[in-house]
Amino acid sequence: MLQKVQLSTDVTLVCTQHALSTEKEEIMGLLIGEVHNDGTLVSIVSSVILRRLDKKPDRVEISEEQLVQATLRAEELATEVGRPLRVVGWYHSHPHITVWPSHVDLATQSMYQRMDPTFVGIIFAVFLTDQSAKAPSIQITCFQSFNEGSTQSRREIELELTSNNKSLTLNNFEILTQLPTILKEEEDEAYKNDVGDNEVDDIINKQHNVAVRTIAIGHIVEKISRPMLETLVARNTINNIRLKALKKKHQELMSKLENTTNIQS
Ligand SMILES: [Zn+2]
Repeated sequence: MLQKVQLSTDVTLVCTQHALSTEKEEIMGLLIGEVHNDGTLVSIVSSVILRRLDKKPDRVEISEEQLVQATLRAEELATEVGRPLRVVGWYHSHPHITVWPSHVDLATQSMYQRMDPTFVGIIFAVFLTDQSAKAPSIQITCFQSFNEGSTQSRREIELELTSNNKSLTLNNFEILTQLPTILKEEEDEAYKNDVGDNEVDDIINKQHNVAVRTIAIGHIVEKISRPMLETLVARNTINNIRLKALKKKHQELMSKLENTTNIQS
C-alpha cells in the first residue's frame, strides 16, 4: 500500500504558481513520476499544466485527450532521462477553501485508483486567510480515497518535498515559463466563446468583451509574468554567486591536488 510521496521542489514551485494564478477558479494538472518499492513510494518529478476546458468555479475535469497527451509527455521524458516515468497523479487548487478533498474529489480519485492503485491526488489550498496570519497562506495535502461502506473517505499520504531530482530542473523551468502562455490561451478562448454568443452588431457587448479580455491579460502580466521574471532574475543572481564560489573552491582543490602530486613524485 502506498505510504509516501516525494514531490520535487521544482514541481511544487510550478504547481503553486499555477494555483496562485487565479482566486476565482480551481486549476488543475497531472503529475509525472516513478513508483518505487513495490508501490509503497511514489516520487513526482514533473507536472503537466492542463488548460481549463470549462471555467466553472468549483469544478475541475480532465478529458481523455489531456490524459493521453500527458501520457505521451511522460514517455518522452522517460526516454530523455532513461527512467520509467509515467503519469502518477493529479493536482488541483482550492482557492479560499479548506485543503481537504471534497466528495467530488474523492469520487474522482477513486475512479483513477481503480485503474492505478498508486495514483495520488494533491491539493494546493491557496489564498487562505485567518485572523492570526498577516499574509494569505498555502496548504498542501496528498491523498488517496478508500471505500467505507458506500461512501468514500480520505486517506492522507505522507508528503515529502525533495530537491534531489536534478536531471529534470530544466524541464520544470520550461513548464513554469509556459504558464503565462497557457493562461493567455484560456483567455483568448473565453473571449472567442463570448463573442460567438452575441450579435455581431452589438457594439456595447463587443466593447465589454474586449475590455474583459484586456483586464484578464493585464492580470496575467501583473500577477504571473512580472513576479516570475523577478524571481528568476533573483535566482539567476544567486546561482551566479554560487557558481563563483564553487569555481574558487574547485581552483583551491586543484592546486592542493597538484601540490600533493608534486610532493609524491
Ligand atoms: Zn477539490
